[in-house]
Amino acid sequence: MNTNESNHNPTSDFIRDIVADDVQSGKHTRIITRFPPEPNGYLHIGHAKAICIDFGVAAEFNGECHLRMDDTNPAKENMEYVESIRNDVRWLGFDWGPHFYFSADYFERMYEAAATLIRKEKAYVCELTMDEWKDYRGIPTQPGKPSPFRNRPIGESLDLFARMRAGQFPDGTLCVRAKIDMSSPNLHLRDPVMYRIMRAHHYRTGDKWCIYPTYDFAHPLEDAFENITHSLCTLEFEVHRPLYDWFLRELEFPQPPRQIEFARLNLTYTVLSKRRLLELVRDGLVNGWDDPRMPTIAGLRRRGFTPASIRTFCKRIGVTKFDGYTDIALLEFCLREELNRTAPRAMAVLNPVKVVIENYPAGQEEWLEAVNNPEDSSAGTRQVPFSRELYIEADDFMEDAPRKFFRLAPGREVRLRYGYLVTCTGFDKDPVTGRITQVRCNYDPATRGGNAPDGRKVKGTIHWVSAPHAVRAEVRLYDRLFKAEHPEEVSAGQDYKMNLNTESLKVIHALVEPGLANPAPDIRFQFERKGYFIQDRVDFRQDSPVYNQIVPLKDSWTKTAATE
Ligand code: ATP
Ligand code: MG
Repeated sequence: MNTNESNHNPTSDFIRDIVADDVQSGKHTRIITRFPPEPNGYLHIGHAKAICIDFGVAAEFNGECHLRMDDTNPAKENMEYVESIRNDVRWLGFDWGPHFYFSADYFERMYEAAATLIRKEKAYVCELTMDEWKDYRGIPTQPGKPSPFRNRPIGESLDLFARMRAGQFPDGTLCVRAKIDMSSPNLHLRDPVMYRIMRAHHYRTGDKWCIYPTYDFAHPLEDAFENITHSLCTLEFEVHRPLYDWFLRELEFPQPPRQIEFARLNLTYTVLSKRRLLELVRDGLVNGWDDPRMPTIAGLRRRGFTPASIRTFCKRIGVTKFDGYTDIALLEFCLREELNRTAPRAMAVLNPVKVVIENYPAGQEEWLEAVNNPEDSSAGTRQVPFSRELYIEADDFMEDAPRKFFRLAPGREVRLRYGYLVTCTGFDKDPVTGRITQVRCNYDPATRGGNAPDGRKVKGTIHWVSAPHAVRAEVRLYDRLFKAEHPEEVSAGQDYKMNLNTESLKVIHALVEPGLANPAPDIRFQFERKGYFIQDRVDFRQDSPVYNQIVPLKDSWTKTAATE
């Protein structure tokens, strides 16, 4: 967080300060940023942080943000990932306008740029093998040895480079190296590779190329070609920045972009690496990239997170240079805070036990008015059916209840939400299992709506559904995907997958009020006293709904479940 007191903008940070200075000094008149994912996996919540920074900064300065597929590495990229990335960025609420680009479209210009460096004697074709190079490059504390090819004639390098492109050499033999500084303590500056031979089919350029640029060479060029002013990325690129600047300087771009690094997002109980997320998908440890337990944008969307809650989260965590963990509870807090304001309420009984109101006429039904959202009067009311037989939560009844149990127990009175006051007159129990099979009550007809005319106090209020009107719903309850706070921190020889929580998904069958049978799509409900739920967008079944638990009402990890 920015601690600069003189700054009036409360949401500012060191990146925004730099950009603001560049605008003020007239260095740039139009701010251009970019978000450059490699299409080799789905985006995750860490990318959401980068997206909010890249698009957010551009928007605040009336600039533009480019969406660029950083697809210079052919092996693992494909169009499914490209489409998912476009979809996810749009869903998060950001717009790249006409500025959608593929790095692979710059391959010809990158080739030309490499040839330019060779002509300037700033690059050469090297014939050392990878193993030999390790030896030449050396270690940070001692200068390396120059490659025997370092000073070969320009013409020879140019010729070999053209023949590399023409496919005249096997994979992994020759490469193009930048000629920088073999004694630099920064190993990235010791004649790094710019181009290598790799016969790999590229999802966009097909088999046109058998040489591919390295990330370090390609990235500054992509930024410069697109006139990016501020290239915002995560801290691991900090040590690459001198190289980034070197390429731009040697290629004489008049207005080179400036790279600025910020700390990546790490979340507790979560793994945020595309490689590992891909492994979970491939090994069937989750049900696809959009499994609601996944930290992918697709997973969070299916789980029921809102784009606004993710943006709020990204704003709250801020932008710093310090690596650390963010508590996943903060993400859930941002969501709860929003859903508490916006989610319509409904009644759903997740673990039902039957209640018979013995003094209520059999066959009678009535419709009671229920408030849709006490936080939002414009949400209005709805009618819920009431009848002689209801379901309540099994744990809202206790045979031998302590004094402070303000729910149902023999002889005790409780309020049925939006209904009547009822008093427990008895219960039936399975003689073998000891399970309560039915709770018997009497209702007070004078308490419709839940208040006693004589003003007597009833502390407890429980939710319920009318048995003949109830709809059966599959409900998927989720827990953290990993049971360790820092799942990737394992000892040598161990695997982060040992930290998977085998109980992260629990499927139950609930009984829900009839309005939940077939709601309009994408509505996030608060099941009263239980949490927030949304109909699954994939496993959608007419009249037999499937609900995902988005988050419980309270954070059960830090607070014990409230009893009301
Ligand atoms: P991963 O490490 O998950 O494989 P990546 O960095 O390889 O991610 P890219 O597609 O290269 O994935 O990322 C695109 C952009 O998103 C980069 O600018 C990168 O810095 C940023 N980014 C990736 N992970 C995070 C994160 N956890 N927090 C913030 N930004 C991130
Ligand atoms: Mg990366």
